[in-house]
Amino acid sequence: MTTLPRSTDLFVIGGGPAGLAGALAARRRGLDVTLADASVPPIDKACGEGIMPDGLAAAGALGLPLDASAGHPFRGISFHEGNTSVEAPFPNGSGLGLRRTALHESMVTVAREAGVRLAWGTRVSGISPEGVTAGGQLVRARWIAGADGGNSPVRRWAGLEACHHESRRYGFRRHYRIAPWSEFMEIHWGDACQLYITPVAASEVCVVLITRDPRRRLEDALPGFPEVARRLSAAQATNLQRGGVTASRRLQAVCRGNVALVGDASGSVDAITGEGLCLLFQQATALADALAAGDLSLYQAEHRRIGRRPEWMAFMMLLLDQRRSLRQRAIGAMAARPRLFAGMLATHVGALSPAASLTNGLALGWRMLTAGSL
Ligand SMILES: Cc1cc2nc3c(=O)[nH]c(=O)nc-3n(C[C@H](O)[C@H](O)[C@H](O)COP(=O)(O)OP(=O)(O)OC[C@H]3O[C@@H](n4cnc5c(N)ncnc54)[C@H](O)[C@@H]3O)c2cc1C
Repeated sequence: MTTLPRSTDLFVIGGGPAGLAGALAARRRGLDVTLADASVPPIDKACGEGIMPDGLAAAGALGLPLDASAGHPFRGISFHEGNTSVEAPFPNGSGLGLRRTALHESMVTVAREAGVRLAWGTRVSGISPEGVTAGGQLVRARWIAGADGGNSPVRRWAGLEACHHESRRYGFRRHYRIAPWSEFMEIHWGDACQLYITPVAASEVCVVLITRDPRRRLEDALPGFPEVARRLSAAQATNLQRGGVTASRRLQAVCRGNVALVGDASGSVDAITGEGLCLLFQQATALADALAAGDLSLYQAEHRRIGRRPEWMAFMMLLLDQRRSLRQRAIGAMAARPRLFAGMLATHVGALSPAASLTNGLALGWRMLTAGSL
């Protein structure tokens, strides 16, 4: 068990991916870093376990090489709606399906080796201008990072709860022992829910249901997706269903005084985007740069910039979730012109300029309009 120090440069509250990434980035800039988490590794969580190519690049920039041999690559994304499907490869490399526990274990190893002081099984019960109360003891800290997840107590303690907007859905995840049947991460659109399927090993897939109904479970939804149900009927589920809340939340501010929020604590985009991990890797680098400069306002500005594209994509995906005829029209149009889907995917992973993204969006809109009335 790690003994907590009397003081530290940066105290990170929460040792999920955001806390570990933030701690690692700050440590690499020479800060003395202490991290505490109430749980012990490897920490699991309901997650689609897909990391997009831009997320892998952001992890690489942190000095966090994610070992492809620990997971399973995927070439791109496919959308499925009724009998209509469309797929496109990523224009900038592969994505990686990686079990959440494997991701956590590898991040813990890298952070420990970089010299981050890790205190597991240590709950933080409060913060003050002097520092952090962890495991009942005061640790003085120049900076405090709240990486304590979507339900962040630090956000509350620091008075950073004010939101521009917030909505919630529910995600239920389960693993099945079966060889991935596609080189793509699949998103299956249904009424008021989606299933998405990520290959995570040569003989395992991760299946997630995302819905607005907290009582709905995978077994309730599967009959609505006969093709997926047929494949999974021959596969053994390797664990119980794990649920979680996925929030679309944009905060008015992510810093106050010497406190900064990172990861889901600092706001989030709906899980259907698969961008949560990419966002928090990018935020971690931005936070460490701001700490090194001694100016958290730099982080505030960079956090806003990083969030814009995923928020826009999440808005579009949630529109498709809520409007069936719009969704059918959009997926039909993209299936007829797959390069429109490829353009959307390139926008999603940040590989298309804003002007080219706009042109692609207009072309898609035009195709939807000229294919009939909505
Ligand atoms: C259903 C679902 C599917 C998703 N699919 C994907 C996907 O495919 N790809 C993707 O990139 N993203 C996905 N996401 C998003 C991604 O999982 C999150 O963005 C990511 O887990 C956020 O990590 P975090 O470190 O901010 O928070 P968390 O992982 O929630 O970690 C917070 C940590 O803080 C600790 N903590 C809390 N309070 C305290 C306290 N008082 N003291 C000490 N410790 C404390 C907790 O123990 C926890 O370990 C998905 C999310 C959901 C819900």
